[in-house]
Amino acid sequence: MKRGSRPDLIWGLGLDENLSKALETALGSGYHLRNWPITALPSKRDMDKASPLTVWIPLSVWNVLPPSSRKHLRDWELTQRVLLLDGPQDGPDVEEILELGFLTALTPPITANKIRDAVFRAKEVRGLYDDIFSMTREIMLERELLARKTDQIIFLNTVLARASQSLEPGTILSNAREDLSLLFPIHGLQGVFWQPGENGKLEAELFLAPCLDQHGRQSWIEYLLGSATKLAGGPVDAFTVEHLFQVSPDSCMPEPGAQTAMLLPLKIAGSAFGCLSIAKDKNLRLGKDQVTSLNAAANHLALALRNALLFREIKAKADHDGLTRIHNRQSFDERLADELKRHQRYRHSLSLLLFDLDHFKAINDTYGHQAGDMVLKDVGAIMDDSCRETDFAARFGGEEFVVILPQTTEDQAWVLAERLRRKIEHATFNYADKNFQVTASIGVATLSPGSLDKREDLIRQADQALYLAKSNGRNMVCASQAKEQKKAVAKARLA
Ligand code: GH3
Ligand code: MG
Ligand code: MG
Repeated sequence: MKRGSRPDLIWGLGLDENLSKALETALGSGYHLRNWPITALPSKRDMDKASPLTVWIPLSVWNVLPPSSRKHLRDWELTQRVLLLDGPQDGPDVEEILELGFLTALTPPITANKIRDAVFRAKEVRGLYDDIFSMTREIMLERELLARKTDQIIFLNTVLARASQSLEPGTILSNAREDLSLLFPIHGLQGVFWQPGENGKLEAELFLAPCLDQHGRQSWIEYLLGSATKLAGGPVDAFTVEHLFQVSPDSCMPEPGAQTAMLLPLKIAGSAFGCLSIAKDKNLRLGKDQVTSLNAAANHLALALRNALLFREIKAKADHDGLTRIHNRQSFDERLADELKRHQRYRHSLSLLLFDLDHFKAINDTYGHQAGDMVLKDVGAIMDDSCRETDFAARFGGEEFVVILPQTTEDQAWVLAERLRRKIEHATFNYADKNFQVTASIGVATLSPGSLDKREDLIRQADQALYLAKSNGRNMVCASQAKEQKKAVAKARLA
């Protein structure tokens, strides 16, 4: 027996004194024999608590054991059973012995060699069991690890698939909020992106959760702007705010802070263009796997968001006129087609203003082409400033502009056109220290509710009205011929 190691436990069931002695003598001090008298054999509980190396059972005892005890002994996996053929009666044959769940059976005389040999074999079997157990444990661990990795891959796949489904930064963020909550409970996801504006100043775009009250909104704006300043390495000069869409808005967004907001910088090629802020419970601590998955998800999201932002930028460039920065002819065509569909579906009035600057050629000739460009730019800005959110101003071509006015009657359109005409008339343009004025003629056309006129009809009507304004002396607004005739009759009556 090794120093410090405990003796191996051996059990005997109803062994007589001779057998007990024979066992103790043969096995020596490395083993401890516990012999259960026939009148007090071990219960199932005793068997569950102990794990002896072998249990020695004389055939005479085995024969009188109740079936349930025999079954328990047979089902005992780690402990090997040795049968002692002790009586004069005929013992079972080898096959029977194995079937009864015994490792071996010893025939008299029970010698020390036979005993040691049986224990040696029991130890071998125990060793095999130990090996199988540790292999099984390893396999289980591997399986658990594999299952965790599979979960991680499924999670990242979900994030990636949904992130690449949309080219709208807001939609990507709303989806990410849902997907990331598969990883741990989150109270909200918000984001900020930044980029240098035209003048080199830093402009930020904030995406806020939909449920914030006035105070929450203000504190999250400050927090996100502070984070952007730190990550961008300079102060944010201007920002816009958008609210994210959420099917079931968060009800308990916490106050922003180091423990409630997890910041995930969004980087491409090592440089940050934005960050996500995940609102979470103050006491929540993430496990290693969760942190790994979250960082991997942030990398996927960074790529998808960068693409979406670039796409939006390129689309905005493609939809806008390079000189005036208002919408161009192509986006006007698309919008007019949409508005015509809405007009026909919802039976609203739809109006169109067609502008043409008066004697513009003379402006170019007198002050130079660049002065002409500057006027076009300024007129574009006047139109953009004067339109409602639902109106759509565009450069039609050259020195001509259009405004689509959804849900606007001819009279309302005429009022707006007149206001615009006056604004242009009263604006003073300055180029190379020279001041000058410009005027515009405007044609108004309207499709009344239920009309089946087409796009071409509306533009032709506006063009005819514009022609009328030009031929009547310029710097004026004219509507359709019928309308103008009515106005003229009314004027004549009054005179
Ligand atoms: P009217 O009152 O009849 O409209 O006279 P107009 O001189 O404005 O009309 P016309 O069609 O004869 O001339 C339009 C001018 O607008 C000619 C063209 O050089 C100028 N123009 C068109 N596009 C631009 C531009 O992008 N920049 C500048 N500077 N001029 C432009
Ligand atoms: Mg023209
Ligand atoms: Mg003109």
